[in-house]
Amino acid sequence: MLKILRQASLRAFNTFGVEAEAHELAIFDDIEQRAALIDWLGDRRALPIGGGSNLLLTRPVAQPVVLVRLSGRRILSRDGDATTIIEAAAGESWDDLVSWSLSAGLDGLENLALIPGTVGAAPVQNIGAYGVELHERLESLDAIDLRTGRIERFDSARCEFGYRDSVFKRDASSRYLIVSVRFRLGGSCHRQVGYADLRACLESAGKAPERASAAEVAEAVRSVRRRKLPDPAAIGNAGSFFKNPVVGADQAAMLATRHPDMPRYPQADGTGAVKLSAGWLIERCGWKGQREGDAGVHQAHALVLVNHGGASGSQLLALAQRIRADVLSRFGVLLEAEPRIV
Ligand SMILES: Cc1cc2nc3c(=O)[nH]c(=O)nc-3n(C[C@H](O)[C@H](O)[C@H](O)COP(=O)(O)OP(=O)(O)OC[C@H]3O[C@@H](n4cnc5c(N)ncnc54)[C@H](O)[C@@H]3O)c2cc1C
Repeated sequence: MLKILRQASLRAFNTFGVEAEAHELAIFDDIEQRAALIDWLGDRRALPIGGGSNLLLTRPVAQPVVLVRLSGRRILSRDGDATTIIEAAAGESWDDLVSWSLSAGLDGLENLALIPGTVGAAPVQNIGAYGVELHERLESLDAIDLRTGRIERFDSARCEFGYRDSVFKRDASSRYLIVSVRFRLGGSCHRQVGYADLRACLESAGKAPERASAAEVAEAVRSVRRRKLPDPAAIGNAGSFFKNPVVGADQAAMLATRHPDMPRYPQADGTGAVKLSAGWLIERCGWKGQREGDAGVHQAHALVLVNHGGASGSQLLALAQRIRADVLSRFGVLLEAEPRIV
């Protein structure tokens, strides 16, 4: 039976740890509850929540919240050592899936180790880290069309993946609830050890990066992440709060003249577009380590907003808006938030 709670606190369900009340919340932990879920929603737009690690709640949530707790994972098919298709339900922990696939001897998800959250939310923003993005490993996913109740299959093209982006962040947001995701793993997944931090960590453990196993790469990723990123269990945060902005060739050239030390990453799309470091821009505006009440910017990471304890979602949002306005007036670059803001 679909369990429905009323006036439920969402504090435990968002890694910023801010208080926000859901008017109604359903715990969706069995695919057989699909019809009941559709009946309950009627024509209201749902807010699915997995681990709440990419979410900023700024007010009581009037729309129905669906806590996705579907579980299960399995190997679907094996084609020698080269390709294995695995499938996991949306409510599974992402990092548990990474560990499970590696212990089954399957390469492919090692660079994405220790990213918080659930399997079902991972395609929403096409999670990425240390040179690998989810879309490179995705086979397909299944999602419920919340208007019709039908389950539809999405291949990679239909997901319209981009940098921290997919159709589920845009047109399909609130319409589809992802229930399971399939990945193409195995020996054909190319090992990515290009990131300087990752290489240094492997080398300091006496491993030649190019010869490291997938499990060793995962271990190095975990160690770098533990050292560099704040643990939401210790201090509320949602990882990077802003995406790295991409600017056109003309603006990039102008910025390079004015700020020769600004990090620039030319894009491989042939347009001359350049990706900038949002963290560098924010740090240059003097925000690193700043604090307004309990809403702050992490001391070591200008890109990570933190809740020092009692910040509300609207205080964190106000801080984000001030940072954005500052970066815009100083550099003419508009920052886009990465988490979903409700
Ligand atoms: C310390 C820290 C480090 C992080 N590092 C990274 C990183 O390296 N790379 C990276 O890409 N991200 C990173 N993140 C962001 C976050 O972990 C990912 O975006 C993750 O995939 C979010 O999963 P979640 O289950 O917590 O999603 P939630 O926050 O619950 O939801 C995020 C969005 O997905 C939607 N959603 C959730 N479940 C479903 C579903 N089943 N169907 C449809 N929509 C759904 C929600 O409505 C919301 O819009 C980090 C976050 C933290 C706190």
